[in-house]
Amino acid sequence: MLTSTDLQNLLARIDRRGYPAYKDTKGAYQFPGYVLSIDHVQGDPFAAPSRLSVRVSGRTAAFPPALYRTDPQRIALQDELTRRFGRQAEQASYQARGSGHSGLIAVSRCGQEVLERTACRLDPGTGDLLLRLEVGFPANGRTINARELEKILFDLLPRCVQASLFYKNLDPRRLQAVSDLAEDQQYIRRELAARGLCAFVADGSLLPRASGISALPLKGGVPFCSPPELAVTLELPHRGALRGMGIPRGVTLIVGGGYHGKSTLLKALELGVYNHVSGDGREYVITDGTAVKIRAEDGRSIRDTDISMFINNLPNGKDTSHFSTEDASGSTSQAANVAEALEAGTALLLMDEDTSATNFMVRDELMQRVVHRDMEPITPFIHRVRDLYDRCGISTVLVAGSSGAFFHAADHIVQMDRYVPRDITVLAKREAEAFPLEGAGLEPAQEPGSRRCPRPSPEFRGAERVKLKALGRDGVSVNRETVDLRYVEQLADGEQSAALGYCLIYAQRHLLDGRRDLRQVAGELDALIQRRGLESLCEDRAGTPFLARPRLQEIFACFNRYRGLNL
Ligand code: ADP
Ligand code: MG
Repeated sequence: MLTSTDLQNLLARIDRRGYPAYKDTKGAYQFPGYVLSIDHVQGDPFAAPSRLSVRVSGRTAAFPPALYRTDPQRIALQDELTRRFGRQAEQASYQARGSGHSGLIAVSRCGQEVLERTACRLDPGTGDLLLRLEVGFPANGRTINARELEKILFDLLPRCVQASLFYKNLDPRRLQAVSDLAEDQQYIRRELAARGLCAFVADGSLLPRASGISALPLKGGVPFCSPPELAVTLELPHRGALRGMGIPRGVTLIVGGGYHGKSTLLKALELGVYNHVSGDGREYVITDGTAVKIRAEDGRSIRDTDISMFINNLPNGKDTSHFSTEDASGSTSQAANVAEALEAGTALLLMDEDTSATNFMVRDELMQRVVHRDMEPITPFIHRVRDLYDRCGISTVLVAGSSGAFFHAADHIVQMDRYVPRDITVLAKREAEAFPLEGAGLEPAQEPGSRRCPRPSPEFRGAERVKLKALGRDGVSVNRETVDLRYVEQLADGEQSAALGYCLIYAQRHLLDGRRDLRQVAGELDALIQRRGLESLCEDRAGTPFLARPRLQEIFACFNRYRGLNL
């Protein structure tokens, strides 16, 4: 292997030459304590920055194996190291100067969720540590400024590495706390299943966020406190006893006046499929990992999906057990979202009236009298929610502040009252007796029967380069086909959308064969990531990009919104 001295000599040689001469730096170099690898060199100072990685051997990094014994602990530790490196890099960034991105030093920006990322990987077997970063190779105009790159690679970067990737330089108590939190969170996740719960919200949790554009906790918010009827106390391995609201499986209704905190609670449940960092306020809000937020999404495309559970006898005579449209309505999109969530194997649906199509949710009695059922294609969700649980075992948590009609169908009714939840099940059920629910005599719901087996699209065959453009959290574009992910609300990070783009490409090349159905395809992608890491998704010559792991449910959701699917 080349040494850092070789790199230094090389830099001296290419100084002041044209920018493309930087390409010669590609390779791996032994530095004191780590190997620096230059994986991809940018074409010019204004292009996407160069991709580098730092490898520290297990012996040198020396993180105690007890800190990363389980997957959640390892992921939490990787997340902590990425954040730490990121803070160091932020200070070092742009200390070297020049045109374009000259001097940039960056790693993934982590939000409130703890996600597995390509940015950092700790090998659970050897303890070897890999950190990926981006560096803007400095130039004046388009002329190489190798002195400035030397400053980055031989002064700034070594300090970042020292301060964040060597156990001996880190605060052991903090790392222990990160690892313990991950183990406690995992314990709650397991306990949900054992206790027949679909979510847990600890007392003292802080659910509201600082603002609509900040995911940080709201200062001075009212801490969560479980109503006694739903309270459970868990014995966490590290934190000890923790009381909170256990939402049992079944149908749970969240009601309450406007602005009393209903949507805030639901949002916390949506993101409770992920672990949150210490200090977030939602560390102990844990939701069934398969939960899917369902909402109306007019304009989305639907490909051969069985929405007959909710929609039948359309005026245009379309077969709703194989429903396709390029431009769905509010109700058909929400019906498709439920059907696809069931196909993806969810055990919990999360819905908020704020983002639902009214005619999908309920139809009141007067309307049923005036417009007879035979004239209405929609069987509203209210007539299906009970069946979904009783026959298919799928729970629902539903925010519905405007219609008491759901009282009949609910097992538990929680009222948010000035941000404090109250169990009003008994009261609400008693009141509901005076309002009998229409809708008896319906055919029972059948689980959707779609089985879609796409064939690969020709443009992905062979060695042809595929264009992938990440659009942040909002979506991803693959060969100019944009997949709109704005309303896939449980995507937490733009790096997850990018990973979904790579999932599409990987599936086009290796999985779609006209025999595997979408559910299998998503399952195989998920298994591949679990077994061989996110890196295995991309066969990109330009090195591994920053990706974060999406859930199986979002992989599935991405395929369902991909208009280029060859069915
Ligand atoms: P709803 O859905 O019931 O209309 P929201 O959940 O949208 O209400 O909450 C309304 C406002 O109250 C939001 O600005 C939210 O940030 C704030 N909020 C929610 N929960 C709390 C809380 N526990 N403490 C303080 N403010 C809160
Ligand atoms: Mg609301």
